Amino acid sequence: MNIHEYQGKAILKEFGAPVSAGFPALSVAEAVEAARKLPGPLYVVKSQIHAGGRGKGKFKELGPDAKGGVRLAKSVEEVEAFAKEMLGNTLVTVQTGPAGKQVNRLYIEDGSDIEKEFYLSALVDRETSRIAFVVSTEGGMDIEAVAHDTPEKIKTFSVDPATGIMPHHGRTVAQALGLTGDLAKQAEKVLAQIYNAFVAKDMAMLEINPLIVTTQGQIKCLDAKVNFDSTALYRHPDVVALRDETEEDPKEIEASKYDLAYIALDGTIGCMVNGAGLAMATLDIIQLYGESPANFLDVGGGASEEKVTAAFKIITA
Ligand code: ADP
Ligand code: MG
Repeated sequence: MNIHEYQGKAILKEFGAPVSAGFPALSVAEAVEAARKLPGPLYVVKSQIHAGGRGKGKFKELGPDAKGGVRLAKSVEEVEAFAKEMLGNTLVTVQTGPAGKQVNRLYIEDGSDIEKEFYLSALVDRETSRIAFVVSTEGGMDIEAVAHDTPEKIKTFSVDPATGIMPHHGRTVAQALGLTGDLAKQAEKVLAQIYNAFVAKDMAMLEINPLIVTTQGQIKCLDAKVNFDSTALYRHPDVVALRDETEEDPKEIEASKYDLAYIALDGTIGCMVNGAGLAMATLDIIQLYGESPANFLDVGGGASEEKVTAAFKIITA
């Protein structure tokens, strides 16, 4: 399950991690009110959708010259103008697919003076059965491109669950980012806070891109992309409460009500299969013969009449 940036930052804050002040807004009036509560003189108007690459994204309705889904504003009036442009429009980013996503929420955040942008993420590494960190000096950009073009600029390491996060992990990060003195200490602290949040909330991925150093010498988490392990959600009603169903495929939401394992795909052939293995094999066969499946659907063994009815309705919709 994914959440919005501002919700992810609220969780990070709970664990002591440094994030900027900010307020979510559902309307232009709320955006203005949010900006008035911030110190200024720099504000950031950030589209809240469950996809990254917002800064470099384009609004479908605004033409090719329009600015992206994250904009720096120098006054409350500018915040108002940007909010008007973004709300209700469709933002297309490298992660949304060509259809894009409608922006229904904004996050109005205090602007930072950025000296450097880094990349830091934590994820569950199935190979080592540990939580792994990925760190890079190349922040604020597409990490997949960095991994492809300059893999030497990416450092990864994992944490032994028996010891948890240790000071040497912090030093590894500081070294990878070329930080010394007080900044190295701050980085060490942030790493521990991120690890603690990750474990406590059963996250599957937490990506801070960028993690910044401000011109005032502060480390800050400037973006937060969080994905939770859905099999652990029953332990976290507070996390479930953050769910924004408007960001999810309505067919997948309907399927989850009937406990069906359903994933929407781009193709044209609908599949209803009992058993995940058979379902996967069916998708493979369809691909093998040059077509593509419209969905993955495992109704499970011993599916009831009610479940199968729901499944047919979802597929034919
Ligand atoms: P996305 O990754 O979806 O494009 P980010 O939150 O990373 O969105 O924002 C894109 C860029 O905008 C950042 O790399 C940073 O340069 C800038 N930015 C974001 N938030 C702030 C902020 N509070 N102050 C100053 N610049 C910001
Ligand atoms: Mg980002």
